[in-house]
Amino acid sequence: MTRYPVIPLNDGHQLPSIGFGTYPLTGEEGAAAVASALRTGYRLIDTAVNYENEEAVGRGLRESGIARGEVTVTTKLPGRDHGYDNTLRSFEGSLERLGLDHIDLYLIHWPNPSVNKYADSWRAMVELRDQGRVGSIGVSNFTEEFLTRLLAETGVFPAVNQVELHPYFPQKSLLEFHREHGIATEAWSPLGKRAAPYNEPVVVEIAAAHGVTPAQVVLRWHLERGVVPLPKSASPERQAENFDVLGFSLERSEIDAITALGRIDGRLFGGDPNTHEEM
Ligand code: NAP
Repeated sequence: MTRYPVIPLNDGHQLPSIGFGTYPLTGEEGAAAVASALRTGYRLIDTAVNYENEEAVGRGLRESGIARGEVTVTTKLPGRDHGYDNTLRSFEGSLERLGLDHIDLYLIHWPNPSVNKYADSWRAMVELRDQGRVGSIGVSNFTEEFLTRLLAETGVFPAVNQVELHPYFPQKSLLEFHREHGIATEAWSPLGKRAAPYNEPVVVEIAAAHGVTPAQVVLRWHLERGVVPLPKSASPERQAENFDVLGFSLERSEIDAITALGRIDGRLFGGDPNTHEEM
C-alpha cells in the first residue's frame, strides 16, 4: 500500500498529507465509508460534533481493522460549546461518541467572533494538549486577525488551520501567513464540492496531459502547494481515485494556471468567518 508523505506540525507531530472528509456521511453509511477509506489507505479522518457522525466515525475506525495508533482522528468544537468550561465538557462528549480515549487533532470549528469566546476555548484546548488528552490543537475558518489574537493572548499558535480552499478560492495570502508562522493548512471542500472545476479547460488539459482525472489534478494541486486536502466521497471507487495522486506531479506553470482560476467571490456559500457563524 502507498505510504503517504507526511507534513510536519509546529508541535512535533505529523499529519498525513491527504485526509478523508466525512460530512454528511452518518449512521451505517458513514461507518462503512470510514472503514472503506481507511482500508484504501487514508490515515487522517475529519469529523465534527456538528456533523452528527462521531459515533459512525468511531464505529468505522473499529470495523476497518486498522490499528488506532496509525490513524489521526480529527474532531471539532461547535460554536454552542465555546468558553473554557464548555470546551472541556464538549471534549468529553466527543470522546464518548467516538469511543476513544484521546483525540489526535482537535479544532475550533468556526471562530464566531460576535460570541467572542474562541480565545477561552483555545486556553482549554492548550490545557487538554498539555494533559496529553489531545495530540495536536488547531482551528478552522480562522483569519489572520483571529490567529494573531490567539498568539497574543496565549502565546500558542494553532498547529493547523482548516479553511475553505479549492481552485476558485485558493487562499493565496492566508497560505503565505501560515507558511511564515509554521501553521499547517487543511483544505475543506478541496474539490470544490458542487462547483468543482472539472470542466475548466485548464483542468481538462492538465488531466489529459498526465492521464489522470480532473479530480486527481485538483487534489495533486493541493499537495504541490503543501496543503492537506480532505476530499469526501461515499463511493469506494472515488475514495480510491482521490487517494491515488502520488504517481504524477505538476509543473510550476500547471500549478499557477490552476491557482489563476481563483476569484475574489470564489467561496462556495459566502462562508466569510468574519460574518458567517455556526453554533
Ligand atoms: P469536497 O470533498 O470538495 O466534495 C465532495 C463532493 O464531491 C461529493 O459530492 C462527492 O460525491 C464528490 N466527489 C468526491 N470525489 C469525487 C471524484 N473523484 N469525482 C467526482 N466527484 C467526486 O467537499 P466537502 O464534502 O464539502 O468537503 C470535504 C470535507 O471537508 C467534508 O466532508 C468535511 O469533513 C470538511 N468540511 C469542513 C468544513 C469546516 O467548516 N471546517 C466545512 C465544509 C467541509 P460522492 O460522495 O458521491 O463521491
